[in-house]
Amino acid sequence: MATPSPIIGILAVQGDVREHARALLAAGAQPTPVRRPQELATVAGLVIPGGESTVIDKLMRAFDLFEPLRTAIAGALPVYGSCAGMILLAREILDAPADQQTLSGMDLTVRRNAFGRQVDSFETDLTFVGLRDPQRLLRAVFIRAPWVERHGPGVEVLARVPGTGPAAGRVVAARQGDLLVTSFHPEVTGDTRVHEFFVGMVRARRA
Ligand code: GLN
Repeated sequence: MATPSPIIGILAVQGDVREHARALLAAGAQPTPVRRPQELATVAGLVIPGGESTVIDKLMRAFDLFEPLRTAIAGALPVYGSCAGMILLAREILDAPADQQTLSGMDLTVRRNAFGRQVDSFETDLTFVGLRDPQRLLRAVFIRAPWVERHGPGVEVLARVPGTGPAAGRVVAARQGDLLVTSFHPEVTGDTRVHEFFVGMVRARRA
């Protein structure tokens, strides 16, 4: 018998919430916006969308979500952070304002706006470990994206920038336990395999 769709929250204080809702629905989850601690308590997983990490950081604190989110992460709530969400899940951030805080779930050092001004938005096809249909490359859309500058031994690298350009080999997707991050935006391409991967993590945690 099919298990019911897990309820997955999307942190909805700023950023591209609607696109993640569509992708989660297509990936077999029930998406719901999260703006309050009571809403956080009802979800089996959470997406932190792309947007502006400095703004999301401030709003999380203004909405009294910062400490509940840290507690939920420490209690192994599965969380997927895309772009700004990746920055917010990193233990350490570079090129950030001195007062910017993070939820600090993953043993990562992440550099904000790492790809530089000239190429601040670009797309590429890359290999992502563990996706359904592994032969098919994943279209990755980068928008003023961060990259992973350093990762601890508990972090599994899932994708790197391909090719031979200046950013080649940079880590742009990773997992540590119940936490998943991507520098790029799979919610805008119509390919829902990264969201399916995360829904799989949520189902595995519930089982
Ligand atoms: N540059 C943004 C930040 O630092 C992230 C961009 C994005 O999420 N598309 O928050």
